Amino acid sequence: MEKVTDIFGSMVFDDLTMKANLSSETYIKLKKTIDEGAPLDLSVANVVAEAMKDWAIEKGATHFTHWFQPLTGVTAEKHDSFISPSSDGRVVMEFSGKELIKGEPDASSFPSGGIRATFEARGYTAWDPTSYAFVKGKTLYIPTAFCSYNGEALDKKTPLLRSMEALNREALRILRLFGNEDAKYVKTSVGAEQEYFLVDRELYGKRKDLVFTGRTLFGAMPPKGQEMDDHYFGALNPRVAAYMEDLDRELWKLGITAKTKHNEVAPGQHELAPIYTSTNIATDHNQLMMDVMQKVAEKHDLVCLLHEKPYEGVNGSGKHNNWSISTDTGINLLSPGDTPYENAQFLIFLCAVIKAVDDYQDLLRIAVATAGNDCRLGANEAPPAVVSMFLGDELTAVMDAIIEEKDYKAAEKQIMKLGAEVLPKFVKDNTDRNRTSPFAFTGNKFEFRMVGSSDSIACTNIMLNSAVAESLRIYADRLEKADNFEEAVHKLIQKTFTDHRRIIFNGNGYDDEWIREAEERGLCNYRTTPDALPHLLDDKNVKMLTEQKVYVRVELESRCAILLENYRKTVMIEARTMTDMVDKQILPAVEGFLGDIAETVNAKRQFKPDLACRYESRLIEKLSGIADEIDRLNLELEDLTAKASGIEEDLEACYYIRDNILPKMKELRAVCDEAETMTAEEYWPIPNYGYLLFLV
Ligand code: ADP
Ligand code: MG
Repeated sequence: MEKVTDIFGSMVFDDLTMKANLSSETYIKLKKTIDEGAPLDLSVANVVAEAMKDWAIEKGATHFTHWFQPLTGVTAEKHDSFISPSSDGRVVMEFSGKELIKGEPDASSFPSGGIRATFEARGYTAWDPTSYAFVKGKTLYIPTAFCSYNGEALDKKTPLLRSMEALNREALRILRLFGNEDAKYVKTSVGAEQEYFLVDRELYGKRKDLVFTGRTLFGAMPPKGQEMDDHYFGALNPRVAAYMEDLDRELWKLGITAKTKHNEVAPGQHELAPIYTSTNIATDHNQLMMDVMQKVAEKHDLVCLLHEKPYEGVNGSGKHNNWSISTDTGINLLSPGDTPYENAQFLIFLCAVIKAVDDYQDLLRIAVATAGNDCRLGANEAPPAVVSMFLGDELTAVMDAIIEEKDYKAAEKQIMKLGAEVLPKFVKDNTDRNRTSPFAFTGNKFEFRMVGSSDSIACTNIMLNSAVAESLRIYADRLEKADNFEEAVHKLIQKTFTDHRRIIFNGNGYDDEWIREAEERGLCNYRTTPDALPHLLDDKNVKMLTEQKVYVRVELESRCAILLENYRKTVMIEARTMTDMVDKQILPAVEGFLGDIAETVNAKRQFKPDLACRYESRLIEKLSGIADEIDRLNLELEDLTAKASGIEEDLEACYYIRDNILPKMKELRAVCDEAETMTAEEYWPIPNYGYLLFLV
């Protein structure tokens, strides 16, 4: 078997490969583009393209694609072969700098949320040299940004890069004020832990709900669920272990640092975490990882479910976005140092995050708002829909001391040094963890736990980067004008802690009591996607995001429109799938069973006319009643679905869905699940939860 160190990154045109395949002159120019964003002229691009093509062909590639992240949530690719006709009637393999740098896919089939209506249908993809190209299958993948003819972003990568730029700009201003002259840039890093379920392929194929919607719309709880907690970190069964092994290898080849894997709380649920890297690359890698997870599952006759809530009554899946800020010189700005000087700087960056999360809690909520995630957030295994922050006991004590000026002896005028006295050295302390907090400080990074398992992490990081950039901008504006820097820093820290104390909550986030308290504190609680989304266009949000140059207004409007449309379509498909399954599978199953029971009664009575047949009578009466109830609710759901289809405005339709369709679906499901528990298994055509969860 090949060594891991040999296969790791073997399919990636990474730094080492570039060095090996480019002249040092070309390499240096390309490196300048990658690291500093310097423009790359066409002659250099031609050389790079040629080298990339030769390398890719050696890896078995015949095609190339510009790989991008349209607003559909999945990645898009259009494959072109390298072939080009030659004068002798044969072909040569060609790939030019122009083809590397820019593509022109027809944008008209991708959602643009109205941008297209105003402008031309043509879209452009532009090479993102900061994310390495790679070979997957027989294709060279080139990560690209995707925009309209007029330059509006039609993807998630463009605003993400802009948000990283915003944070870099404002963070450098702060660092210079603290006397740091050598950091050339500041970037955010992310490690995204990914949860998923595995299910047997054959069973999956028999569930229209899983096939069409990614989640089960029916299904009674099996006698055993997750109550024993015996799955969490449990030994891997051989089939799952083989899958994970294969998955690791495929990811490693693509340069994805798959690191930790384990069973999760729910049966059939697992987690994979890579080592953190630059946010842009982490986002690309996470998209790629979700793709590879599904492909590898096929080989093992499994299906990988990425939906946020595949099964009612067992834990759903999320993604933990571990996020930190660091300099190119290797300083983690969220790491509490042990000198006073560093502590003050740490506190400023910490404050910037606290202020950002409080000021833009709505944006963080919006960033994770999807119909799928609505099934999970606020349920008893996932963070609530309310955004709050966990700082841990030590840091909270520091914060409170600073607010109350307890440990500060202003007379000594050595504010920063005193900062050191109250600030203990932080070691990453696992006992200090709070698993129920949506946004937890975990030693030298923040972990945001509200992201849905199927979602891109781009939106979350766009909002986070932008909001923190905005706090830093406000701080820098003030500090640059300050006469006494140290005093001004102290005042800022104290003011931030005081103003934003409400966002800090170290208790149990799953507690109902907390939701009441959160509302008293004035934190927003947008329970559903339609509750949250419209706030994307609130004045304060538009102002911040446009001033930070992360979005222009029309891009925000288009995103809001697309997200609402997505929600609407998703739930409508679910509702129609339910009706279909009830009509074609559930009611016929119940009737078939009832018919056979009734026949049994007849047969028995032929044998002995006065037999009571109490069991059959009870069953027939109860189940007939349930069948009528199923039919009634199903007709009502059909009616509501028809009404919702007729609503023109997406937002209005979303509210209608939230208030009428989803509750009706819940009612219908409940009676169907009851019918399942009463119907003999051989009549039930839909594989039950017991098999789905435990037969992997
Ligand atoms: P957990 O206990 O939640 O599994 P870990 O410490 O194992 O936490 O880390 C989880 C994720 O956080 C991993 O992807 C890891 O690479 C990432 N991570 C660790 N340090 C940082 C950091 N400084 N910035 C961003 N992500 C980080
Ligand atoms: Mg975690």
